[in-house]
Amino acid sequence: MNIKPKKMSFYGVKDIDSLPELKKLSETERLAMKAVAHVLPFRSNNYLVEELIDWNKIPDDPIFRLTFPHPEMLSSQDLNLMVRLIEEDAPKTALREGANEIRWRLNPHPAGQKQHNVPSLDGEPVPGIQHKYEKTVLIFPTAGQTCHAYCTFCFRWPQFVGLDDLKFATRESGDFQDYLRSHKEVSDILLTGGDPMTMKAWQLALYIEPLLESGFEHIQTIRIGTKSLAYWPYRYVTDEDADDLLRLFEKVVQRGKHLAIMGHYEHWQEFATPIAREAIRRVRSTGAQIRTQAPVIRHINDSADTWAKMWQTQVSLGCIPYYMFVERQTGAKEYFEIPLVRCWEIYQQAIQQVSGLGRTARGPVMSALPGKVAIDGVAEIAGEKLFVLSFLQARESDWCKRPFFASFDADATWLSDLKPAFGQYKFFYESQLEDILTRQKLF
Ligand SMILES: *Cc1c(COP(=O)(O)O)cnc(C)c1O
Ligand code: SF4
Repeated sequence: MNIKPKKMSFYGVKDIDSLPELKKLSETERLAMKAVAHVLPFRSNNYLVEELIDWNKIPDDPIFRLTFPHPEMLSSQDLNLMVRLIEEDAPKTALREGANEIRWRLNPHPAGQKQHNVPSLDGEPVPGIQHKYEKTVLIFPTAGQTCHAYCTFCFRWPQFVGLDDLKFATRESGDFQDYLRSHKEVSDILLTGGDPMTMKAWQLALYIEPLLESGFEHIQTIRIGTKSLAYWPYRYVTDEDADDLLRLFEKVVQRGKHLAIMGHYEHWQEFATPIAREAIRRVRSTGAQIRTQAPVIRHINDSADTWAKMWQTQVSLGCIPYYMFVERQTGAKEYFEIPLVRCWEIYQQAIQQVSGLGRTARGPVMSALPGKVAIDGVAEIAGEKLFVLSFLQARESDWCKRPFFASFDADATWLSDLKPAFGQYKFFYESQLEDILTRQKLF
């Protein structure tokens, strides 16, 4: 396949006026985009701009919605404030102050919440890893805390605008390896970010190669969570160290471990280019598997047909659909969020359109404090309309796959909005959860 290499370049707030593709928008529209981009992180790149976005369809093009800011992402009050500051040519400090005030209000993480799930070894916290579920440890490599472009709905946005510091990330040396060596119950590690695939192959190897040595026989699976297959597929094909990366993947497989690339894909359009398909082919040729996941997001993929077509496309390319998430904790929550019942309808109407090989996608699922809670359906029992829920993952493994029930609520968008059905005061897991959290001193 004849694919020309591409040298990566980023677009940010300063490019909104000069990007030729945005000239078709009015000056007012561009001003509003700038206002949003001063508050919430904005980064796109030349692959998205030149190949993936259909500029005839903006602003409704899903990839445009995925990475370019929209006026509606801020409340009109906040938007007006930022627009006024820009129009008045306010000094940088005033712009930053205005933006920060809005950011603090939008930031879902009160101080200290990052401490959740940080495990300790010999009484000392091990920063940069999370161990919430028995089998799987999350690793946040220091050098992988950025992305090839920023998603407008990203829940990690505070870290990209400097609101969160990166103290939670881990260096390649020592600590996380010691932790894993002494936790034989762990079978999976998941490298996550940001996007670990923004690292060079040699940096990634520093995290992965030690786990192929003795002492880590219990680690069966290495997962890498990444958006790069969609945002920068050149990473796997023509980038300078693309071949080194594939050799690293091969080495993992040859050592008898399962390598799972957890590809984040929001829309079938992300598979439309030759380079996107070539990247998938090259990754799979190493023996790695690609599993896919995405949240349901209003204005981007909130239709059953979009999901059905995406899953079909994935299956035909040899990818394995894995999760459909319910999104939350975005800065622009009101703009993107969708009621739980609507998420479930989209899942239910999409899954019936694909064969069994596409029905490996589980969801819609909320990654919440007690665990990963799936909305299994809406039912009526003893005259009460309710949601049927279950854990796919839980802080207490034994909570998994025990159906439980919440009163139906058409407006609920998160687990915390739901009340137990049948007049109960608590969900079955809640007392135990309080005990666990107290023990971990999380209150
Ligand atoms: C989702 C998740 C995992 C992985 O769960 P699987 O069911 O194995 O995919 C691990 N840790 C955390 C914190 C998670 O949110
Ligand atoms: S790729 Fe993931 S971490 Fe990066 S901006 Fe998108 S949602 Fe956020």
